[in-house]
Amino acid sequence: MQQIKAKCPVAKKCGGCEYQGISYDEQLQKKQKQTESLLKKFGKVQPIIGMKVPCYYRNKVHSVFGRDRRGNIISGTYQAGTHYIVQTEDCLLEDRKCQEIIRTIRGLLKSFKIKTYDEDTGYGLLRHVLVRRGFETGEIMVVLVLGSPILPSKNNFVKALRKEHPEITTVVINVNDKRTSMVLGEREIPVYGKGYIQDRLCGCTFRISPKSFYQVNPVQTEILYETAVAFAGLTGKEEVIDAYCGIGTIGMVAARHAKKVIGVELSKDAVRDARINAKANQIGNIEFRQGDAGEFMVDMAKKGQKTEVVFMDPPRAGSDEKFLSSLVTLKPEKVVYISCNPETLARDLKYLVRKGYAVKKIQPVDMFPWTGHVETVCLLSRVK
Ligand code: SAH
Repeated sequence: MQQIKAKCPVAKKCGGCEYQGISYDEQLQKKQKQTESLLKKFGKVQPIIGMKVPCYYRNKVHSVFGRDRRGNIISGTYQAGTHYIVQTEDCLLEDRKCQEIIRTIRGLLKSFKIKTYDEDTGYGLLRHVLVRRGFETGEIMVVLVLGSPILPSKNNFVKALRKEHPEITTVVINVNDKRTSMVLGEREIPVYGKGYIQDRLCGCTFRISPKSFYQVNPVQTEILYETAVAFAGLTGKEEVIDAYCGIGTIGMVAARHAKKVIGVELSKDAVRDARINAKANQIGNIEFRQGDAGEFMVDMAKKGQKTEVVFMDPPRAGSDEKFLSSLVTLKPEKVVYISCNPETLARDLKYLVRKGYAVKKIQPVDMFPWTGHVETVCLLSRVK
């Protein structure tokens, strides 16, 4: 398996896979080298943890719908930097069941007289389809992103879709009537099932709404979270912060080994899911705050509050001065930095090292085979 060199017919146009045609072993070597070139100066970089089967790992599949020059309905991805749709057939990254469902939807549109949306004129109805699957639970959510709220004969459409794929557990209409490159709009109308799916990771159950962030590679995510929590070396006595917590995943896995956890997250939807998740898993020692992680830290520092361990998992842009400066004021013994961008990680590590922290462990995990993305977990501890 490690030697497969996939060739996708639309690789060039799609641009999603930087490492097409390169064996998986070689991909891992490249990522190891890249991580080392950026992070070696802080300490030894452990060998990257790769996947046993590095294919069809994405639990979330998005497809944009439109027409080709001949007027045929197509679905796939935008050609990098353009509004041309590249039809994708058998993507190596995406879960196969999710891809099948998207193909079924493409096939159903004509008989239901559902028009695809035209980006240029703003006419038409169906813009995107998003399918998310809980790999552990088997639950599947289909999100139909429409330019206006009404889907003609929606019940029959859902029936026809579920006839082909009875494993679909929920269907949601998302209304996006804006001329925007954002996929999802604000309004959501569940048309079948409960409007969200659940999945299990590291022994906890998580509720996932159409808009909430959930790691796309659950197999590697378990390894990532377990590594992060192991790095923290929790004994059950610590007060812990899970910054940029999303739906509360890392914090909830850590809560079993800590005295108390506070999760901080900007997205309202994610915080709502996080609170429901904590309750559903009967985790009583975790709380969530909605807001900017940096402001939360400044506030804690002002009040003279203390924390022993901080997990931080910021977006690709990394953290910011506000967050990092109050982090060093709070003086946690340990910081576990989970990063999806080694460049911003290197920048933030430089700051923390200058302000009295030492980098103890660096562990890359391959969350995104065939792409150039690298995820890294890093342990820092306070120099006394
Ligand atoms: N730790 C979570 C989510 C990581 S993704 C997990 O593993 O699933 C990064 C998260 O940071 C997203 O949920 C995003 O909404 C949130 N975020 C982005 N900017 C933020 C900010 N300034 N303050 C708090 N959270 C922020």
